[in-house]
Amino acid sequence: MSSTNGMKAAVIGAGTMGNGIAHVFAQNGFEATLIDVSTEILEKARATIEKNLGRQVKKGAIDESVQKATLDRLVTTTDIAAAAGADIVIEAVPEDEKLKAETFRKLDEVADESAILASNTSSIAITRLAAHTLRPERVIGMHFMNPVPVMQLVEVVRGLATSDETADAVVRLARDLGKTPVVVNDSPGFVSNRVLMPMINEAIYCLHEGVAAAEAIDEVMKLGMNHPIGPLALADLIGLDTCLFILEVLHHDLGEDKYRPCPLLRKHVDAGWLGRKAGRGFYNYG
Ligand code: NAD
Repeated sequence: MSSTNGMKAAVIGAGTMGNGIAHVFAQNGFEATLIDVSTEILEKARATIEKNLGRQVKKGAIDESVQKATLDRLVTTTDIAAAAGADIVIEAVPEDEKLKAETFRKLDEVADESAILASNTSSIAITRLAAHTLRPERVIGMHFMNPVPVMQLVEVVRGLATSDETADAVVRLARDLGKTPVVVNDSPGFVSNRVLMPMINEAIYCLHEGVAAAEAIDEVMKLGMNHPIGPLALADLIGLDTCLFILEVLHHDLGEDKYRPCPLLRKHVDAGWLGRKAGRGFYNYG
């Protein structure tokens, strides 16, 4: 094992976000244990991390020795008990409250008593997830953005019971990862998705109602609003299942019709056209 900063992180779920989160921890000197239910996904996650590090090497952003040391600090396993010994655990399983609640119950059993349990949830109440543990003061939202190695923001979400010590520790941790933390309070969708998802949903309604083609909708928002990526391409990047889950949480928890997911989004999810990760969403990815 290569040199570490003496800190251990465990990441639960090795999908789009989990592999990026494990990448960033390992690259910044943490021993990172990446845990998923599927060996195949874990293999894919390691290959993605290797490829993304390789891209940084090619650009001259990092040395080849950093790529190797990062991969040496990364362990993958299907055993959630491997979260024991971690200073911080970041949960990044799908945006399904039942699954997250069950994951937090298990983590509370297997993780060290002093460990902070963080969720990367996009919208589910941190206060409710914390209530499934015996350590609600050490439960917090650590909401990374996609793609994690590239994006600067970490939205730090304080649940009702989150202690100042936990919030301060997570702010420091985000800075140690080279990120910029912004602290917000627990509310459906927090700030990021409360603002972003209605825009994405409205773009999908425009497509659904034939106001314009996907490319045209994205061009308007890119060229007219100076957005680096259009809302439909962004939805494909996030994952259409994740977008639907988030809109359902906003709709249910805030109780307003303006958050009602567009039927076309539901149809795409039903068809398995989940965006980039599935090869097809609002666009085709070959
Ligand atoms: P994903 O579907 O790509 O990955 C989820 C992973 O969790 C899968 O690999 C799955 O096998 C694994 N998993 C399922 N059940 C598990 C269990 N019991 N134990 C361990 N692993 C399990 O999803 P994602 O896009 O990475 O999203 C993960 C979380 O991050 C969600 O809460 C989502 O809302 C949030 N998030 C997503 C984005 C985004 O752009 N995709 C951005 C910010 C936050």
